[in-house]
Amino acid sequence: MRITNVEPFVVWGGNRNYTFVVVDTDAGISGVGEAGLTWKEQAVAGTVEHLKQFLIGQDADRIELIWQSMARGGFFPPGAIGMSAIAAIDIALWDIQGKARGVPVYQLLGGLARDRVVCYPHTVGRTVEELIESCRQHVAEGWKFVRLGVGGQGETFEPAEAVRRCLANFEAVRTALGDEVEIVVDFHTRLDAPDAIRLCRELEPFHPFFVEDPLRAESMQGYRLVRQQTAVPLAVGEQLASKWEFRQLVEEELMDYARIDLCIAGGITEARKIAGWCETHHIKLACHNPLGPVSAAACLHMSLATPNFGVQEMPQKPHTRLSDVVPVQVDWADGYLLPSSRPGLGVELDREAARRHPFQMQPAPQLRRLDGSFTNW
Ligand code: MG
Repeated sequence: MRITNVEPFVVWGGNRNYTFVVVDTDAGISGVGEAGLTWKEQAVAGTVEHLKQFLIGQDADRIELIWQSMARGGFFPPGAIGMSAIAAIDIALWDIQGKARGVPVYQLLGGLARDRVVCYPHTVGRTVEELIESCRQHVAEGWKFVRLGVGGQGETFEPAEAVRRCLANFEAVRTALGDEVEIVVDFHTRLDAPDAIRLCRELEPFHPFFVEDPLRAESMQGYRLVRQQTAVPLAVGEQLASKWEFRQLVEEELMDYARIDLCIAGGITEARKIAGWCETHHIKLACHNPLGPVSAAACLHMSLATPNFGVQEMPQKPHTRLSDVVPVQVDWADGYLLPSSRPGLGVELDREAARRHPFQMQPAPQLRRLDGSFTNW
């Protein structure tokens, strides 16, 4: 089964662009993958075009050899842009494998390690009252988790103010929802160690399921400091682009939940290796899934087949977006994603629909401190 074509589709989804890749074979079987790295979509699609020349004619059954050839070929390390392109192609190759054998991808990964996958949705609210209402709505729909984001106020972000606001919001949400609902809080790599330590220590009495990405991600050294001074579980890694970048976090046990983004960190092939390595350190999987329906499906298959699983991100229910471009999406009920018996990933991309929603240039959001200096969005 030889690869005959590789085509990237950057699709405007109404709120952001989504990068899909379709791989065709001479067996008449096609697979679809998705790449991460929002605001760098054209660079990722360009890298797919660079890889296409090598890929055409390759044996689609040899996923590991193709992965190694893409990741280590061309002399220069791929970086996050290259690994995102590789991720989408790799996910498409697993989709093809499943379809060729008539089984879901989770079956290729060892079968169902669980019957269903619990997920956390994103809540919204400009005030604490709106936030509590959003959380209550999600719980009423059946979600078992809620996720609180901690953004700036307008275009500014002051760490001390954000920590105070987060602590007040978290306590209010915990009081409103009780102890049965799990709450995760995402600081989106916006803090330095002293603020992160204060945040984590003061959240301890309210039992967060985990605190996600409290620290800037350029260096993982900072997690040594945070780790020593709090008992709160930490979830880290959504910006990391390979097993090599996860190495220190795993080997020094600096996190409790690995936020592997399959669409940035080299696809299913690389995520499987990271997950297995995490298992030997009692670190659980909490796949980063802020993207489109193909990402959601790839994460679902990983979560279904991986023994050391915690929770999967699922910002909204399936079919909230891109129902015309990806008319077959994952199945959700009562706060869980469910396995399907559909071969491959179990999702389908409509190429004509994808072409009807071309890429739109969108500036990346920016945040400033009150003194005008830059701070992470
Ligand atoms: Mg996050």
